[in-house]
Order: sequence, then structure tokens, then C-alpha cells
Amino acid sequence: MSVKAKKHLGQHFLKDENIAQKIADTLSYNGYNHVLEIGPGMGVLTKYLLEKDITTHVIEIDTESVDYLKANYLNLANRIIEQDFLKYDLKTVFKDDPFAIIGNFPYNISSQIVFKLLEIRQQVPEFSGMFQKEVALRICSKEGSKVYGILSVLTQAFYDAEYLFTVPPSVFNPPPKVDSGVLLLKRKDNFTLPCSESLFFKVVKTSFQQRRKTLRNSLKTFNLSDNLKANVIFDKRPEQLSVAEFIELTSRIEND
Ligand code: SAH
Repeated sequence: MSVKAKKHLGQHFLKDENIAQKIADTLSYNGYNHVLEIGPGMGVLTKYLLEKDITTHVIEIDTESVDYLKANYLNLANRIIEQDFLKYDLKTVFKDDPFAIIGNFPYNISSQIVFKLLEIRQQVPEFSGMFQKEVALRICSKEGSKVYGILSVLTQAFYDAEYLFTVPPSVFNPPPKVDSGVLLLKRKDNFTLPCSESLFFKVVKTSFQQRRKTLRNSLKTFNLSDNLKANVIFDKRPEQLSVAEFIELTSRIEND
């Protein structure tokens, strides 16, 4: 018996054991005692996590997958959280303890997973796993790149991001339409934003809403002083600004 893949849950089951092992090996398993796998499905990755010297919890929205896991991974049974990762309050399970996140993620909610990670980052020193290749590359890309955008800036403000390797559609059942990519995020420790976080998010999001426009144009709604807008940084387009420059820009706006 195996789980029938459901499209609306982004289910593409990994068939390749070597890749599952390789993904499980991306985390350091250092500095925390818990790992949370998002979307374990039939447990192809979970079984390699269970071999690590760490407590593994999984969060899975699909009842059929949960039943499969309960039947096939007896020692995991009371660490299966049958919930929507996007909605569930993880403090219920982890309290204030740190935990790493891993997964072959449901691709239909990729960006939302990253935004939730940013919300709970105080507890998540490491994050690794698989997204569509394009999303994984975007998260890891630097200024000047065509795919550099909101996800790149916001993630890299708090995490060092590394694109690790590409995975072809053929190793999944059913195969997705696109290549997949595995990345690793390591939280920048001892880092705090020198400016308001909500303003930083707002500046980045507003700047990239019109990526071809200069910041002077895109940030009009912020009603900035002429003095501030005279700065050459406002001649730039968002994709030309490094993460540090976005932070610097936000601080200036905050103090305007
Ligand atoms: N890790 C498995 C399955 C990957 S498919 C493998 O590699 O084979 C993505 C998995 O995420 C599916 O099992 C799907 O049911 C689950 N999923 C989808 N949306 C979810 C959500 N919001 N919260 C938790 N799990 C989710």
C-alpha cells in the first residue's frame, strides 16, 4: 500500500534513496536537539533523519500519508503532527527550544514556507531542503542577478544561503514539470536588524513591485524628504541593491 499522489497538496514523492540520504546529510545537527520535517509523505527522507542523533518530528497535512507513516514507522508515531505547517503554532511542540527544518517541500506553498521561516527564525538556526530549482536559486541569488528579488533579500538578511545541487524530475513520482534544487540556510548569529523589521519588509516588497523602476519612483508612497531622495541610492533599481544596502536604505527612511 502506498499513498496516492494528490496534486492540490503538491505531492511529488521522491523515489531516489541516494538523494534522500544526501538531503538528510545537508544539516549539521549541531547546536539543536530537534529537527522538524515538513511534508514527510511516505517518509523517504524521514527514515534517514531517524538514523541521526536527533529527535525528529514531522508535520504532514495529508491524513493518508499520516496513516502510512504510523503504520510503517512505529517509533515515529507520537512525533507526527497532523497539521498545516503554515497555520500550526510550533511552540506547542518545541516550546522555546531551537529546531532545524528540513523537507522535500510542497512546491505550491514554497514562498509561504519561507515567510513563515522568517517569522519563527529565532528558533530555527538551520533550514535545508528542496524547492523548485527556480525558487531555490532565487532565494540564494545576489544583487545584479535577474532572479534576485523579495525572497532573496528578506531571507539573506537573516540567513547565509547556499544553493547545493539540482535534482531532475525523473526521480519523483509523479515527476514535476520542472527541475528541483536543494539549498541550505544557516542563520547569521548575533545579527539584529538595525532598523524596524516591518519597515524593512515594506521597503523591500514595495521596491520590487516594479523592478524596472528606480527606487525614487517606486518609493513615492513613503513621502520622503527631498533631501533624502537626493541620495544617489534612489537612482538605482531594486535588483542593484545588496541586502546591506536595503538595510541601510530602511534606516535612512526610518530617520527621515
Ligand atoms: N517528503 C516526501 C513528500 C514530498 S511531497 C517525499 O520526498 O517523497 C510534499 C508533501 O508535503 C506531501 O506529503 C504533502 O501532503 C505535504 N504537504 C502539503 N502541504 C502541506 C502543509 N501545508 N503542511 C504540511 N504538509 C504539507
